[in-house]
Amino acid sequence: MDISIVVPLYNEAESLPELQAWIERVMRDNGFSYEVIYVNDGSTDGSWEVIRSLAAANPAVKGVAFRRNYGKSPALNTGFRKAQGDVVITMDADLQDSPDEIPELYRMITEEGYDLVSGWKQKRYDPLSKTIPTKLFNATARRVSGIRNLHDFNCGLKAYRKSVVKHIEVYGDMHRYIPYLAKNAGFDKIGEKVVKHQARKFGKTKFGLDRFVNGYLDLGTLWFTGKFGAKPMHLFGLLGSLMFFIGLVAVMVVGFGKLWAMHHGDHYTLVTNSPYFYIALTMMVLGTQLFLAGFVGELVVRNSPRRNEYEIREEI
Ligand code: UDP
Ligand code: MG
Repeated sequence: MDISIVVPLYNEAESLPELQAWIERVMRDNGFSYEVIYVNDGSTDGSWEVIRSLAAANPAVKGVAFRRNYGKSPALNTGFRKAQGDVVITMDADLQDSPDEIPELYRMITEEGYDLVSGWKQKRYDPLSKTIPTKLFNATARRVSGIRNLHDFNCGLKAYRKSVVKHIEVYGDMHRYIPYLAKNAGFDKIGEKVVKHQARKFGKTKFGLDRFVNGYLDLGTLWFTGKFGAKPMHLFGLLGSLMFFIGLVAVMVVGFGKLWAMHHGDHYTLVTNSPYFYIALTMMVLGTQLFLAGFVGELVVRNSPRRNEYEIREEI
């Protein structure tokens, strides 16, 4: 099978028939063998009945329904587990992404050798309250992930080589960072294609402004787990040592300062009168705490079944 199209959806009943017809048209015109996997993320608006009738009309349509709304990431992950095509395409169900982009995305994966190609909604049809923070968000994601050539991490329209989706796990709200997940899994040929974007025709957006807060927190998590997931002590130990060292210097300043003054018969006061005393106190306590966090982290890692998770690309 050439292509699997994975469509996560939550209350998008009105858009589905039009989307399916459009996909079918593109697939037929290009002669692809394909499947469309609709993952119904707990819709309450009759989306599932629509998928049922689409599946009855076309055997290439497959559907999975969650018992309740879990989020876009679990929906994508479910589609990824089921996908059988050589190239896997993800797209939103709301008709904002155009199926006309699929043939070119497919070509970039199969002929140009990309592992992942992300869409770039260069010209967006979304409110300003969304487009401006998005620019900032993408700039941060580029820096943190080291994927310098992506402008639009969270574009719903993406294409993957099959092995990519089988080797990454999208959980929580990590769908915003799939290129970063892929990079952490060793797939580094990541490309981008400018794609057409349209205003939402039916229904409304499922994500509010909290997306930016959560997005930044998740970016921190990915940075941490990617770099230190298997060796937390390397981060906490470094920070702890640094703090402890600052504390030690401060202790010496207060301690030796007082001894010196006593020895030379100068005026001296209680060590608690010195600001260095408080610096020493805080820094040493914090340093010890960080060390403990590091040790606890190492204990957690030691017991994790994924402590030695790596992928072998090939063997001779
Ligand atoms: N979606 C989902 N589960 C959710 C929220 C959204 O499957 O909990 C789907 C939604 O139906 C759509 C896609 O994810 O197909 C993108 O959502 P939306 O269009 O609301 O996001 P936006 O375009 O505003 O970023
Ligand atoms: Mg949308």
